[in-house]
Amino acid sequence: MAFGTEIAQKLKELVDRPYTFMHICGTHEAAISRAGLRSVLPKNLKIVMGPGCPVCITPQGEIDAALELVEKGCIVATYGDLLRVPGSRGSLESCGGDVRVVQGIHKAVEIAKETEKEVVFISVGFETTAPTVAATILTQPPENFSILSCHRLVPPAMKWLLSQGEARLDGFLLPGHVCTVMGYWEYEVFPVPQVVAGFEPEDILLGLLMLVEQVRSGSARVENAYPRAVTREGNKKAQALMWEVFSPSDVEWRGFPVIPHSGLSLKKEFEQYDAQKKFNIVFTHTAKHSACICDKVLRGIAEPTDCRLFGKVCTPRTPVGPCMVSHEGACKIWHMYRVKQG
Ligand code: SF4
Repeated sequence: MAFGTEIAQKLKELVDRPYTFMHICGTHEAAISRAGLRSVLPKNLKIVMGPGCPVCITPQGEIDAALELVEKGCIVATYGDLLRVPGSRGSLESCGGDVRVVQGIHKAVEIAKETEKEVVFISVGFETTAPTVAATILTQPPENFSILSCHRLVPPAMKWLLSQGEARLDGFLLPGHVCTVMGYWEYEVFPVPQVVAGFEPEDILLGLLMLVEQVRSGSARVENAYPRAVTREGNKKAQALMWEVFSPSDVEWRGFPVIPHSGLSLKKEFEQYDAQKKFNIVFTHTAKHSACICDKVLRGIAEPTDCRLFGKVCTPRTPVGPCMVSHEGACKIWHMYRVKQG
C-alpha cells in the first residue's frame, strides 16, 4: 500500500469524533486542494484555513497607502498578486499610475538605479521574505529607493486566534516555509497540538496523523513532520539579518484587529528607506462594506463556498476580495480546483 493511502486509512481508523485543524499557509491550501486531500479524509476531520496568505491579510488601509504613494508621483513596484487587491478607492492595477510588477525587491532596486524618480517597493510577506528584504536594505540601495513595510509575523496571529477561540481548533498544521527560516521554538508556548508539515500530499497527511495522535493522547506539543527542511532553531543567519533591520510593530491584519508585535517596521537607523516616514504616510483603518467574507475565511470560521459571491459575482477574473486575487488565496484556490466543500 502506498504511504499516503496507508496514512489515510490510519486516519479513518483513529478519527472517532469531530476534529478541526487549521493551517496558516496558502501553499498548504494549494497542495491540499490540488491533491484533493479533503476527499480522502474522514468526514469528521476538517482542515480550515487561517491567515496564511500574505496578500490576503494585507488590510485595505495598506493598499490605500500604496495608492497614495502613486498619487504622490512615486513609481510603485510590487508583486503581481497585489495589483488587483481592492483598496477603498480602486486597486494598483486600475489607478493609472506608474506601477511596476517585480519578482522581488532586487528588481525594484534595479529600477531605482535607472531613474531619478522615487521608487517604493510594497514589501508584503511573512518571515520567509523579510530576511531577503533586510539583506537588500543592508546593501545600501540608492537614495530614491524605499519600502512600504507590510510584513507580518505568524506567531502573534496564532496567539490572537487562540485567545478568541472562535474556530474551535484542535490543533495547527504549522507553516513549513516560515519554520524553515524561523524554526519552531516560538510555537512551543502555545498549549495546543502543533505539527510542522511540508508540502507533498504525504507530508500533509503525516502532519494530520501526528495531530490526531496528539489529541487522542491528550498531549499538546510541537512536532516536526518536515525534518528534511526544518529544525527547531531555523536559519539563524536569516533571522539575524531580519532582526538587524526590522523591529516588531503593532499592525492590523485584514479581518483581524491590531495585533501586538505582529508586523515589522524598519529600525531607526534605516528610516531613510521607510516610505511611511519619507512620504508621511499613515495606515488608516477602513470599515468593510461589501458582502465579501474574506475576514471570516482568514479566521477559519467560514469556507470560500460559504460566500454568496463565490463563483458568481466574484471569480478570478472579477475578484471582489483579496482571497480571490492571490494565488495563495483560499477562494482562488478553491475556484481553480473546483473544491465544493471542506
Ligand atoms: S468569494 Fe470573493 S467575495 Fe467571497 S470571500 Fe472570497 S474573495 Fe471575498
